[in-house]
Amino acid sequence: MINEEYDKNNIFAKILRKEAKADIIFENEYILCFRDIFAIAPVHILIIPKRHFKDIFDFSKNASSEEKVAIFDGFENIIKIFKLDQDGCRLISNFGDHGGQEVPHLHFHLLGGKGLGPMRS
Ligand code: AMP
Repeated sequence: MINEEYDKNNIFAKILRKEAKADIIFENEYILCFRDIFAIAPVHILIIPKRHFKDIFDFSKNASSEEKVAIFDGFENIIKIFKLDQDGCRLISNFGDHGGQEVPHLHFHLLGGKGLGPMRS
């Protein structure tokens, strides 16, 4: 077990166990990519590792090289599937309280399909 603090009842763990539904766009041995249920852009895909990591720091410390490369494969595949390479997109991973992370399983938000404006609110 890599992380005793991981909450196995979080919604993404349920999606991974097929106990909850998701609109899956892409998956391979290491990652699952699915639409965010409360999309804030025409393209709003969540990219998650299949193994249990609670956040980006946990992943950075404990994931294998294959798992890390697979996340970038996910970015590349989503960019290709939605043809975001010309107009661009935004990639975000919220981490912890200050980052506003709500679901305690590492995820990357890939947003695109319209001009997203500057990061400042
Ligand atoms: P964060 O605030 O970075 O933890 O983002 C969690 C994201 O998960 C939010 O954008 C939610 O809309 C999304 N979300 C929560 N439940 C589901 C679900 N069942 N299927 C897809 N996305 C979800």
